[in-house]
Amino acid sequence: MGNQNETRNGTIVIELVDSHAHLDFAQFDGELNSVLQRASDAGVACVVTVGFDLESSRKAVALARDHAILRACVGVHPHDAAGADARVLEDLRGFVEDSGVVGIGEIGLDYYRDRSPRDVQRRVFREQLDLAAEVGKPVVVHDRDAHDDVMAILRDWASGVSSVKGRKRQPLGVVHCFSGDQAMAEELFQLGFYVSVAGPVTYSNASRLQEVVRRLPLDRLLVETDCPFLAPHPFRGKRNEPAHVRLVASKVAEVKNALLEEVARVTTDNARAVFGIE
Ligand SMILES: [Zn+2]
Repeated sequence: MGNQNETRNGTIVIELVDSHAHLDFAQFDGELNSVLQRASDAGVACVVTVGFDLESSRKAVALARDHAILRACVGVHPHDAAGADARVLEDLRGFVEDSGVVGIGEIGLDYYRDRSPRDVQRRVFREQLDLAAEVGKPVVVHDRDAHDDVMAILRDWASGVSSVKGRKRQPLGVVHCFSGDQAMAEELFQLGFYVSVAGPVTYSNASRLQEVVRRLPLDRLLVETDCPFLAPHPFRGKRNEPAHVRLVASKVAEVKNALLEEVARVTTDNARAVFGIE
């Protein structure tokens, strides 16, 4: 990392990690090299591309092999939980051996869309938490309209995790695109989790989320795009991409009355700590 004050074309040189992206999506087909170049030009040093089912996890692993800027997470999203049988979990376990795989995700609960039955979502979430514990990787948690059950499951898992073979690492993981309140964030921090902030913090109707972010300690925050979804202002509604994580970090800096350089430095350190990225 260079001198923070040095400038390139008049912009401050910073280093960011987009801690949650979906670069295997068709929206990036044929354009990935230019997308990654723009990310790099915006100061993004690393992008974590996250699987949501077996096939996209396989693609995430392959992408991380092909591009030095990428790391991968592998997992089954709650939308796809109904298809996650024992064989799928066994295949995920196989992916973890690849050196580019830095976490298990995204996993969790989504009671907003309810695309898989809730009891199945909970079972598959727990199974993948146990897989993460077994292989010693952090988890990337998706929580939409399911705060209570997500917290109950994470609380239970975190309390048992130290007894799982091979599982000694901290932090335990990150709750991505955080939408909970201050109390939930504080309990997550106590359990050993971080939270990640995405594009919605930039939206004009996001005063509640901005207030939560304002109060959260910077040393527990990550930033992300969740691209191709959730493009930050002024790109809302368009295809999102990792370069736009700079807009998320800028907004976090604004609401916390901090410098972008500080937000970049601390959130990048946090992402490296969560995922064990050098
Ligand atoms: Zn995602």
